[in-house]
Amino acid sequence: MPIHEKSLIRPEDLETHDKMILDGVDVSGHWSTFITSRVVSDYNETLQDEIAALPGGEEIHRCWQCGSCTNACTVNEVNPDFNPRYWIYLIRMGMESELLRDKDIIWQCVSCNKCTYACPRDVFPEGVMKATAHWLERKGHTPKSPSTLFDEVFTEQVVATGKIEEGRTIQRFFARTKQKLLQDWIVEMVKRMMRGLPVTMLSRMGLATLVAPRTSNWSAASAAIQEYIDEQHEKQTEALSLAELVETAKNDVAA
Ligand code: SF4
Ligand code: SF4
Repeated sequence: MPIHEKSLIRPEDLETHDKMILDGVDVSGHWSTFITSRVVSDYNETLQDEIAALPGGEEIHRCWQCGSCTNACTVNEVNPDFNPRYWIYLIRMGMESELLRDKDIIWQCVSCNKCTYACPRDVFPEGVMKATAHWLERKGHTPKSPSTLFDEVFTEQVVATGKIEEGRTIQRFFARTKQKLLQDWIVEMVKRMMRGLPVTMLSRMGLATLVAPRTSNWSAASAAIQEYIDEQHEKQTEALSLAELVETAKNDVAA
């Protein structure tokens, strides 16, 4: 008997008997495929609330599992294991250990938002994918992605100066992701800029990279932004019970 969405069942949970007769009917091979029974006892009853506490995950409770997001998904087209509908199901059910089995591919969402346009319930599945990827990082299940590191570099620069200076952003992003600065495409870009841009503009750009000018009267705005960031960070830390997680890890190490 064909199993609906068989690809979602782990191969180790499937059993097929080469030779099997049931009530006189030959169901050998493919026809005797069974899903082995199992008991799930490690539900995380707060998992949906944890994802909903992160930016993008707020509307996850609206999902009615129609699957339009997965049908529309760019990444699912090339990797059937990338399945937003399925992950939203696992999160809503609190099946954290099942979700963690896919932790290394959830970050692959390319933010094309095709799922968002297909979703009839305004769940914003793209946002849920981002929230889930951040949840994995905040809980220590995956390292910070290059995208998170870029966000950090960008935000730090805005808070400090009220401006974005591309040269410094790239420099810091490469340092944080341990990439060499002199990459072929950068060398080529700099050569072309030197050939094509006026000297005064090049000097201004070089100076901005070195001295990091600030927007005038930026202090109050900077403080307000930082206060908001800290407030959100604290709320998320509380929603994800990160303090308890750290305490448990410390006790485990001590033991
Ligand atoms: S935004 Fe992400 S989850 Fe949505 S369709 Fe694009 S790749 Fe798939
Ligand atoms: S399209 Fe929307 S409602 Fe349908 S499964 Fe995806 S997230 Fe849920």
